[in-house]
Amino acid sequence: METNPCNKLINGGSSIPSKVSRKTNQENTIVNIKGVQAGGSEIIIIAGPCAVESREQLFETARSVKSDGANILRGGAFKPRTSPYNFQGLGEDGLKLLGIIREETGLPIVTEVMDTRQFEMVASYADMIQIGSRNMQNYPLLKEAGMCRKPVLLKRGMMATVEEFLLAAEYILSQGNDQVILCERGIRTFETSTRNTLDLSAVPMLKRLSHLPVIVDPSHGTGLRWMVPAMAKAAIAAGADGLIMEVHYKPEEAICDGYQSLDLNEFGQLMADLKKIAIAVGREISLTKPSHV
Ligand code: PEP
Ligand code: MN
Repeated sequence: METNPCNKLINGGSSIPSKVSRKTNQENTIVNIKGVQAGGSEIIIIAGPCAVESREQLFETARSVKSDGANILRGGAFKPRTSPYNFQGLGEDGLKLLGIIREETGLPIVTEVMDTRQFEMVASYADMIQIGSRNMQNYPLLKEAGMCRKPVLLKRGMMATVEEFLLAAEYILSQGNDQVILCERGIRTFETSTRNTLDLSAVPMLKRLSHLPVIVDPSHGTGLRWMVPAMAKAAIAAGADGLIMEVHYKPEEAICDGYQSLDLNEFGQLMADLKKIAIAVGREISLTKPSHV
């Protein structure tokens, strides 16, 4: 008799949707973000500020993370803030700044879309569309992402099970877009010492159940700058295909999520440490410094 309630899931019960399932596609799906490949042997590192705040903040942060080996730049222009009175992002002006720094650094950009009405506009700037935790079950938005021809970074809902997460991804795949990266970013539990409980066990579970690349967000997953390096290293050791991390040139002055953002030196140090972990688990990580920085 089965005693583990997860066995149905693990053993490929009918609850796992078909297109995302490893049963349908045994090979790992490689997601290509303007030449950066997620899901292969290389670890991808997405870094940048929580929100685009200003030209100086974005550009200085972007140049520095690039020189330390980040592959993709993050930065929110439309921010899903808990309070409507908090900074909501620079909107299209923020997207324009992301577009300028992409040209300079060559880093592809990932940015969040919150609303189907803004989808086309955000997609016209972004190299990868981010669907945030709060919108993981926004089905019209998922369908829109499925119809677009850009890679999608889908973050786990903060109260979503692994199965619900995979079903959300299935919405995107069902519309014909298989370029989806799954991102574990912490879930709500009874624990209050961290912002969320980073569910690193979801990494091997998702890799086992699905062929899609899996990355981890230790910034939102912990909400604690000092804890980010430990969980970033643990994520790579657990088999994650990459990381998304908040980095700010002056975290103490950040308008949004400064308390969980690495400063530029901390990020550089972490990249060097991640390289050792990556090698230990048979993965590659690029730390090449571009000549123009
Ligand atoms: C973010 O990455 O900018 C973000 C808002 O994260 P999440 O959706 O995981 O809360
Ligand atoms: Mn944030």
